[in-house]
Amino acid sequence: MKKTIYMPSSKNIEKAAKILEKNGLVAFPTETVYGLGASAISDEAVSKIYEIKKRPFHNPLIIHVASLEQAKNYGIFDYQAENLAQKFWPGPLTLLVNKSIGSRISSIATSNLQTVALRVPSHPVALEILKKYKKPIAAPSANLSGTVSATNASHVFDDFGDNIEMILDGDKCTHGIESTIVDVRSENIQILREGAITKDQIFKITKLELDAYDGHKILSPGQLEKHYSPKARVRINVKKPNADEYFITFGEKNNNNHVNTINLSSTGDLQKFAHRLYACLRDLDSMNIKKIAISPIPHQGIGRAINDRIKRASK
Ligand code: AMP
Ligand code: MG
Repeated sequence: MKKTIYMPSSKNIEKAAKILEKNGLVAFPTETVYGLGASAISDEAVSKIYEIKKRPFHNPLIIHVASLEQAKNYGIFDYQAENLAQKFWPGPLTLLVNKSIGSRISSIATSNLQTVALRVPSHPVALEILKKYKKPIAAPSANLSGTVSATNASHVFDDFGDNIEMILDGDKCTHGIESTIVDVRSENIQILREGAITKDQIFKITKLELDAYDGHKILSPGQLEKHYSPKARVRINVKKPNADEYFITFGEKNNNNHVNTINLSSTGDLQKFAHRLYACLRDLDSMNIKKIAISPIPHQGIGRAINDRIKRASK
């Protein structure tokens, strides 16, 4: 069998940069979920991402860069955008800004929009690739479109096999849930997708009340109703599961003697729950479980992002 999964040695990081240079695809770990990377300035490379993920072309890609300084070559950063980038980069925050004049980002990567979603990831392997490659990398989550994101190298292999040249194995992702996407094009900043950085953390920096997303205009397909879905049917906010359901619970009180139960954090740690959720959904699919019930998750901190994802998984 062709070798696809590689350890992130400096030799392999160099190999990854060479693959990107030739418009190939490299999957790599980030602190959120695994990304499927391609050169963001090449239409040919970026098209491969859409093709292999079976992603609709109207769903633009997050562009990863090594620094705020580099990001400014591709997007316009006003005071609040700069402020948020200074505070949270490198890290799990994606900033939606207007494209700068002369931005070389492929218009296929941004679905022909005048905006670009930029992020500097903090995972050392992702940062090393970005520093070695020196150009921006388009990297959506490394999973088939609409399904559960990958949080380890073998999840990526399960979805794409050796159709991608290289998967760098950088262990599990710390957060396990996608980045927060914030539209910072005006003073009315808006969260387009809840994620690892919470609304309260953003408020502390900007001192601006975040505009509630009104749900009418789909600016970001991460807002699509059904997304992040396993094959199994999912019910959420369940206190008492049905006999034929596999129960995913949280916190110590939820263990009510149901036979097929997995508790993703008996200590009630939402970070831990987020970290383990996608792997659990993928495992249950591979066990051919048809029905999943999930206990209520507190709607605070990263719990908001968890509730957002499981709600879409349940549609
Ligand atoms: P993924 O990396 O697959 O989790 O998806 C990235 C999310 O970022 C998607 O929901 C995209 O729609 C969103 N996104 C990326 N670029 C833009 C953009 N230019 N405008 C609006 N949303 C964007
Ligand atoms: Mg995705």
